[in-house]
Amino acid sequence: MRIGFIGLGIMGSPMAANLLKAGHVVTGYDVSPQRVDQLAELGGKGVASAVEAVAGAEIVITMLPDSPQVEEVAPLVIEYGRPKLLYVDMSTIKPETSRWVARKAAEAGVRTLDAPVSGGERGAIDATLSIMVGGAAEDVEAAGPVLRTLGTTVVHVGPAGAGQTVKAANQLVVGGIYGLVSEAIVLLEASGVDPGAGLDVLAGGLAGSRILELKRHTMVKREFNPGFRIDLHHKDMGIAVAAAREAGVSLPLTGQVAQLVAAARAQGHGSLDHSALLKVIERLNA
Ligand code: NAD
Repeated sequence: MRIGFIGLGIMGSPMAANLLKAGHVVTGYDVSPQRVDQLAELGGKGVASAVEAVAGAEIVITMLPDSPQVEEVAPLVIEYGRPKLLYVDMSTIKPETSRWVARKAAEAGVRTLDAPVSGGERGAIDATLSIMVGGAAEDVEAAGPVLRTLGTTVVHVGPAGAGQTVKAANQLVVGGIYGLVSEAIVLLEASGVDPGAGLDVLAGGLAGSRILELKRHTMVKREFNPGFRIDLHHKDMGIAVAAAREAGVSLPLTGQVAQLVAAARAQGHGSLDHSALLKVIERLNA
């Protein structure tokens, strides 16, 4: 297929690479020229504007940082992709922004899906992402082959915006686990127990998780190269807290995790990996 890809960052770049490997023709754009050059080196076509990435594409994927960037780019995608385009936004943004995009797209006769992902940079590289899709069933079916090139779990979770609500739920769970693994490390070290050995046991028992599996060694060694930046997790906790307010539910632990992530940012760790929540828990105990 001819695929336009906008937003070639930590996630978008390996995702576009996997589409190329699968034999698709990928035209990519990013505001960072280096990112565009990287795609060209992999055999894609790098272009200098979003509009050029949309021209002639059957599917356009956006993988942008946050809602404002999607609000800026989506109208161009819709305008220049009408009427035949299938537009799949895979960024993590506010559910209400995804619903706004879906309304704009419907007015122009463009099909659209919100399809945020979980699995991190590793999942993007290995094409093992978990993809939560909001939109119409027939459009999910049409996008299915392309989405299954990027991930191993692709689930249609409901109408427009539902993908983002599921992603908000994902992010509050991930943030909570990082907070608790950080507390476990601080407890083990303060008690004179080797945290590496301790977390190896946790990883094999009921407390086991992908986070413990993939991140326990780097956390113990205090290696916090992103990965997924604290700044982006702060954005996601804001989305989760707002979604809870809109749904009229109280999520006390989510509120606490949101404050820990905010503290990590306030302490200057915004560009570190979100496992750097450990720095906040350490500082509470310094
Ligand atoms: P990133 O900052 O590395 O990549 C975003 C890219 O978008 C950057 O290269 C940036 O230059 C580009 N960009 C910004 N504004 C643009 C515009 N107007 N037009 C074109 N390009 C523009 O971020 P990322 O880590 O790749 O995350 C992308 C999205 O995926 C975010 O919404 C994030 O929350 C989500 N996500 C990230 C991870 C992760 O582990 N990194 C995991 C799951 C979901």
